[in-house]
Amino acid sequence: MVKIPDKMKAMMLTEYNKLELATVPVPKPGKGEVLCRIRSVALCGSDPKMIEGGYKFANWPPYFPFIMGHEWAGEVVALGEGVEDFKIGDRVAGEAHAGCGVCDNCKRGHYTVCLNYGRDGRDGRLDLGHRHYGFYWQGANAEYNVYKTNSLHLIPDNVSYDAASLCDCAGVAFHGVELAGVTPGGTSVVFGPGAIGLCAMQECKALGSGQVIMIGRGKKLEMAKELGADVCIDFEKEDPVKRVLELTNGVGADEVMECSGAPSSPMQACRLVRKKGAIAIIATYKDDAVLIPANTVNFNEIKIIGSKANPNVSKKVLNMFSTGAVKVEELITHRFPLEEYPRAVEIFEKKLEDSIKVVINP
Ligand SMILES: [Zn+2]
Ligand SMILES: [Zn+2]
Repeated sequence: MVKIPDKMKAMMLTEYNKLELATVPVPKPGKGEVLCRIRSVALCGSDPKMIEGGYKFANWPPYFPFIMGHEWAGEVVALGEGVEDFKIGDRVAGEAHAGCGVCDNCKRGHYTVCLNYGRDGRDGRLDLGHRHYGFYWQGANAEYNVYKTNSLHLIPDNVSYDAASLCDCAGVAFHGVELAGVTPGGTSVVFGPGAIGLCAMQECKALGSGQVIMIGRGKKLEMAKELGADVCIDFEKEDPVKRVLELTNGVGADEVMECSGAPSSPMQACRLVRKKGAIAIIATYKDDAVLIPANTVNFNEIKIIGSKANPNVSKKVLNMFSTGAVKVEELITHRFPLEEYPRAVEIFEKKLEDSIKVVINP
């Protein structure tokens, strides 16, 4: 059994644009919680944005100093009161969201859009203990953290901690893929060959799509080809709308996964999806106001679906890692110890050295 120390190293955001390695007390698991030794934390596009103060509107982080990090995997090392679903030594992957469990949305399984979001228990209503780890509640950029067990999933034996830390990222993709639906034998289009798009592409294949078309550019587009995309369209060299229509006899794609966050993508998605097709908006945008062709949406009965985070998909995603249907080790281009987190953020944010996914090993 691992001996749990009193203190741990943690990477703190002490104010916007200021990161500091600190020594802080190891948290104690409460009722229904477990203490985990964090082994791997993957950086997410939201991390640099939060560091820079780009989520003030969402009150992320809610206070300083704050420990970020939400795409993680590790080991259960201590159990809180009443925990029976996990045991010490279990290898687990975490989700960022633990819903309150009692609101109307949570009761229907939609816990990433929990109606008690932000009511984290600090106001004394522990029964409304919604958690959004790494955003609204202390995260994984540390040697240890405490989690509610409903945010944890067992990692299959043949999946590494580093790979399992991409469970959240691949899950974000898969939620969108599930919401849009994949037509077996049909045509799926993925905008944006970043980590989420590369996962979405492989997931569309795993669900039986006949051809998956990736739209992007550069090295990441090459990676899409290596990982199995049937057609890669470089939008700097050709018009994605024209090409997709050509590839589908003028009918359009059955479904589109928008993972790029480019403000022009939703408009293009509407123009290259078939009548009655579906578009999942998985990406987020710098500006909230993005144009869509409303008449086309109306005439063609296009279904545009918002996809928030990764509810009810982690087990499926981890199993797809295990079977090899979704390859994520290939997406990890860089690894750093916790001490070098600021450097890791820089490499990730500026996309230096062809970085795709950067993993921290605390
Ligand atoms: Zn993330
Ligand atoms: Zn809820």
